[in-house]
This record gives sequence, structure tokens and C-alpha cells, in this order.
Amino acid sequence: MTDAPCCPVCGNEITPEREKKWNHEGAWIYFDDMGCRNRFIGNPEKYGAGAS
Ligand SMILES: [Zn+2]
Repeated sequence: MTDAPCCPVCGNEITPEREKKWNHEGAWIYFDDMGCRNRFIGNPEKYGAGAS
């Protein structure tokens, strides 16, 4: 089984074609679209940033 990454904002599986990434405090976080990325950037703690 593959362990495909999921968007932390909407929970969708992230496909390579749609992948958007953002470096948050040294960690790369992947999203499925720019809208989700922007929502994460606006409120990273809500979406689990820093929960290691
Ligand atoms: Zn998403």
C-alpha cells in the first residue's frame, strides 16, 4: 500500500500533479491546491502545525 499524503486543510489525497508545498518553520507541508495552502498560511495552528 502507498502512504499518499493528505492535505491537512481539507483531507484530500494529494496527487503529484496537484501538489503545492509550503515550508513552515523548516518543515515541508503539502497541499492539494493553493486555496488550502493559503488557508493554512493564514492560520497554521488550526491545521496542526507544530504537532509533531
Ligand atoms: Zn486541500
